Amino acid sequence: MSESAGRIYGINGPVLRVRGYGNFRMSEMVSVGNDRLIGEVISISREEAIIQVFEETTGLKPKDLVYASGAPLSVTLGPGIIKNIFDGIQRPLAAIQAQTGAFIGRGARVASLDEEKLWDVKILVKVGDKVSGGAIIAETQETPVVVHRVLLPPDVSGEVVSVKPDGQYKITDTIITVRTKDSIEKPVCMMQKWPIRVRRPVNNYMMVSRPLITGQRVVDSLFPIAKGGMAALPGGFGTGKTMMQHQLAKWSDADIIIYIGCGERGNEMTQVLEDFTKLQDPRTGAFLMDRTVLIANTSNMPVAAREASIYTGITMAEYFRDMGYDVAIFADSTSRWAEALRELSGRLEEMPAEEGFPAYLASRLASFYERAGCCEALCGKNGSVTIIGAVSPQGADFSEPVTQNTKRFVRCFWTLDRNLAYARHFPAVQWLTSYSEYVTNLADWYNENVGEQFLSHRAEILKLLNEESELNEIVKLIGADVLPDTQKVVLEAARVVRLGFVQQNAYHSYDTYVPFEKQLKMMDIMLYLYDKCTRLVAAGHPMSSLKANGIFDKVVAIKYDVSNDNLAALDEYKKLIDEFYEDVLAN
Ligand code: ADP
Ligand code: MG
Repeated sequence: MSESAGRIYGINGPVLRVRGYGNFRMSEMVSVGNDRLIGEVISISREEAIIQVFEETTGLKPKDLVYASGAPLSVTLGPGIIKNIFDGIQRPLAAIQAQTGAFIGRGARVASLDEEKLWDVKILVKVGDKVSGGAIIAETQETPVVVHRVLLPPDVSGEVVSVKPDGQYKITDTIITVRTKDSIEKPVCMMQKWPIRVRRPVNNYMMVSRPLITGQRVVDSLFPIAKGGMAALPGGFGTGKTMMQHQLAKWSDADIIIYIGCGERGNEMTQVLEDFTKLQDPRTGAFLMDRTVLIANTSNMPVAAREASIYTGITMAEYFRDMGYDVAIFADSTSRWAEALRELSGRLEEMPAEEGFPAYLASRLASFYERAGCCEALCGKNGSVTIIGAVSPQGADFSEPVTQNTKRFVRCFWTLDRNLAYARHFPAVQWLTSYSEYVTNLADWYNENVGEQFLSHRAEILKLLNEESELNEIVKLIGADVLPDTQKVVLEAARVVRLGFVQQNAYHSYDTYVPFEKQLKMMDIMLYLYDKCTRLVAAGHPMSSLKANGIFDKVVAIKYDVSNDNLAALDEYKKLIDEFYEDVLAN
């Protein structure tokens, strides 16, 4: 560490004003005081530098030294990230705990990744190979489901002049040497650093074209998100944001999951950890934790680290994307993150904009969301980063700045509705106000992989729900009894769709995750029933006679009655509906 140092001149919570001879640069990482607390330069003028400190500043005093590090605040990338739990500046919580006890001690110095562990490494390049930044040079099995592709750092290229044999190496061991075009021999190990606030380079970005399959019907079938897409999940307290984030993180078909608990309660992170360690991925049979990284910056941890946590997370996401993986990153909640930004801005005595948030709220949100996307990575493989952010506006007021600014960037908006949550309709995604702009991007994928039926079924289901809402306006005025049977049929079919399809029980073993094929068949059966009922009513059969044999409730219960590994049982339902149809006709 360079010993260029300045001295503390003023302290305001996590914000320090520093004067003196420190040759600080913007975004440089610094260490502060005897405890060497970690901080970052966030503003510089002629006289002073402003530093935000990621740990409690209690006990610091004016004249304490602040040391420059010569490098920007960065994450350490390499094998050992998966299955780990980090704080907002990538300190592994287990190692810190071992060092300082149950509460994170200040100035805890632990390597972000285990530097002692030996990995079985297979070298994939040979002497004489020309390699360029981002190339895959080696691989190691990081967990039972993740092959860690060791990447050449983006800024290194040249000719391979030496390689180690396959074998066991630590992340800091040199595994190959590259001679750059300036004839410098660069030793390359499995570990690299990258500044958290800078996007990692790619060959090119491309249009998103594949859905992230989540096993959640309201997402997959109604408001889908693309791999490489962005979604926001706004909702008031208790509407199910965390639950839905957990469900998506558990069951999405991404290769890697990064889950950031950002300013929310600590026990929710414990929950994720417990669940993910126990649960198996229905596709691979491996434990979900084997492809997951947790970043915990809960409400009791310092605010500056919370501000950094989403950039730490997204940088890790980009790193795995660069290996050619589909990564999904969750942030719960971006509102708590924005509040950290507001608090820091207040300490800096900046001019507040809307609701006290700094004027740069929008650009900071953008600098997170713009790192989503599908791309061809430097290694030539395709990868993606999908971002799903929860937004928790005060009093469920969606007109506030964080929700509104987020809406400008994301193309998928799942609004959670308080009334639905009160009525225990979960997930409480309000179908009338939610939307996905990805459907057109994904149309080809659906037609090729699921069949043309999918988009037409989806449209019909949404139409039915919309018609129900219009009819409900009339019902409010004049009551349901006076509606003609042609409209009662709409209400009944919509009820079947709401209860049987849109509602999904996260606690039920079949219903918690539903394969796409089952989703499509469920829609098919419900629309088939609707069609038959419409015909019966048109033929003059009263609604009451249709309700007599309980077919509606049978169809509603499909989600509980048909297990995910016995989808053939679904074929029986159309026969049941045909029988019902003939029965009513005959009477
Ligand atoms: P938020 O994060 O929006 O404050 P939570 O995700 O903690 O809300 O959800 C609050 C409660 O709502 C949960 O404890 C759970 O009882 C219920 N809930 C939410 N989503 C579901 C779901 N999909 N299935 C069943 N219950 C749910
Ligand atoms: Mg929550």
